[in-house]
Amino acid sequence: MSSWVERDSKAIWHPFTPLRGMEKPLMIERAEGVHLITDEGDKIIDAISSWWVNLHGHSHPHIAKAVAEQSAKLEHVIFAGFTHAPAIQLAERLLKILPENQAKVFYSDNGSTATEVGIKMAFQYFFNQVIKRNKIIAIDGAYHGDTFGAMSVGERGPFTEPFNPYLFDVSFIDFPTKDKEEEVFEQFKTLIETGEVASFIFEPLVQGASGMRMYSAELLDRMIALAQANEVICIADEVMTGFGRTGKLFASDWLENKPDIFCLSKGLTGGAMAMGVTTCTDKIQSAYRSNDLMKTFFHGHSFTANPITCAAANASLDLLLAEECDANRARIHQSHLDFVTQIENHKMVRNARVMGTILAFEMNTDKDTSYFNEARHYLYPYFIGKGVLLRPLGNVLYLIPPYVIGSQVLDYVYNTVLEFLDNPEIIERNK
Ligand SMILES: *Cc1c(COP(=O)(O)O)cnc(C)c1O
Repeated sequence: MSSWVERDSKAIWHPFTPLRGMEKPLMIERAEGVHLITDEGDKIIDAISSWWVNLHGHSHPHIAKAVAEQSAKLEHVIFAGFTHAPAIQLAERLLKILPENQAKVFYSDNGSTATEVGIKMAFQYFFNQVIKRNKIIAIDGAYHGDTFGAMSVGERGPFTEPFNPYLFDVSFIDFPTKDKEEEVFEQFKTLIETGEVASFIFEPLVQGASGMRMYSAELLDRMIALAQANEVICIADEVMTGFGRTGKLFASDWLENKPDIFCLSKGLTGGAMAMGVTTCTDKIQSAYRSNDLMKTFFHGHSFTANPITCAAANASLDLLLAEECDANRARIHQSHLDFVTQIENHKMVRNARVMGTILAFEMNTDKDTSYFNEARHYLYPYFIGKGVLLRPLGNVLYLIPPYVIGSQVLDYVYNTVLEFLDNPEIIERNK
């Protein structure tokens, strides 16, 4: 173990990491393409895009160049009363690829702030018009971030327990599994018909953190139609699903009815830098256009629309919108489908599913899909030992690779997974 790791443990507190009983962090010296390279020169395939952020591979030269050039020119400027080309270009480009109803871009710092902004925008939309609407609907199992507002609209579980007394009231509907769609729609309808609902927030088509759970576009379309007919603002949290993960540029592109607000982050800068974006329709912003100063949206962060970050996002969009990226996503999608055909009847596998470049399945480990299911604790080090970064969510194993992952590397990842599935006694050896 390098002295770096000792110094780390003396000075640093890592996210989502128990302080006892965990493996030491690995020291990463550099990264290139889909590979993380440790200080000992070992290569690890980043099969989960470093927590779902990376799109085009690590340290991509095109993004690195844009960041270097921008930082030498204008590194930052206050974004109230000032503006700059990278932010304007990025906003225009985002509006061009988002559904047509999206009209305005609000910048922030990460996925949690993007959803916070969306929730606040929706509440104040009604407040500014002196309309009383104080309910918000979310879906069981949702994850929208770790700040208080974002936690409030997310699943209340072991992670939020210390904070539950301080989270605001939210009406949760059940997760719409195939056999429950009509029941969930009825729950939703009952809530909407109270006339008290301000907004409905959801991860369109795929709930990420609850285990890459997928649900029907038809149902979500019906829910959005009903919500919008009742003036309820629909907030699509595309923090994970955005920028091509589900095959189309946004998961909402699979829908007929377009959400009113979009929350973006993760892949926005290609995974190079932290940034959040919340976009909305012109109608939503119109409730803020007033001579009454109190109708201003009083929200902002010190680093709003940081020019270097905007430059990274613009560079990432160049890569994302190139034909090559399209072809790569289609190739990964097809490989995932083939792999699912191979494993779906395996005795260790349940509910294998694919959406775009996301592949997930549950492992038959008797226990339910809770994060505390111990599968993760032996599987993570097992796969790292094989040179693959996979971080199961409970007993859900999933792949969400950068789009540049080559076919051979992808096959190596599949084979590593298969080898484990065929030899479940590996579990015993790694316990
Ligand atoms: C990761 C995630 C967030 C939170 O983003 P952070 O940048 O980690 O704050 C919000 N919503 C969804 C759907 C996410 O996957």
